Amino acid sequence: MMARMSTPPTVRVTLVRGDITQQSVDVVVNAANSSLLGGGGVDGAIHRQGGPEILAACRALRASQYGKGLPTGQAVATTAGRLDARWVVHTVGPVWSSAEDRSALLASCYRESLRVAAELGARTVAFPAISTGIYGWPMDDGARIAVRTVLAEAAAPVEEVRFVLFDAHAFVEFEEVLAAQG
Ligand code: ADP
Repeated sequence: MMARMSTPPTVRVTLVRGDITQQSVDVVVNAANSSLLGGGGVDGAIHRQGGPEILAACRALRASQYGKGLPTGQAVATTAGRLDARWVVHTVGPVWSSAEDRSALLASCYRESLRVAAELGARTVAFPAISTGIYGWPMDDGARIAVRTVLAEAAAPVEEVRFVLFDAHAFVEFEEVLAAQG
């Protein structure tokens, strides 16, 4: 019988305060909306910076696979256009609800984005704090779900998962959660 080898912790989780469109990584994850046709916040920034190739690829996906839009919690890859990245992985976060627990859908965004990134052969993946902007998710809870899911799900060939936090508040919340995971 073969002994089961323990897996070394090969995935590094890092935090950066800044703009995700300025990162040099294999995959930039976009907090998209289900239309895939662009929006505000980080989505708008990625399309502005990445140029029209990304939107063209999103339109093609709508026409071929996602006529009704990309469902919440799922993820799909396109070109990264002019970004310093190889792919953009678009995922649709849930809108925050105080009446209903949608945490599983938010965790699914991180898990599915990592799965798509790994399938592509990505080694470095940058995430924004999905759903914590226009979609209203409280930052502390959004950070907890993000960090826990990434620590549980990230696997080879992914080597680094970088959370790119736009403001000081987001950075502090992620720092606290990551420190607590120790
Ligand atoms: P959602 O609709 O999923 O809430 P938003 O784009 O409104 O998406 O916000 C998600 C998070 O991304 C928020 O914390 C917001 O501050 C942050 N954000 C906005 N622009 C950028 C950017 N250029 N780089 C990284 N994070 C960003």
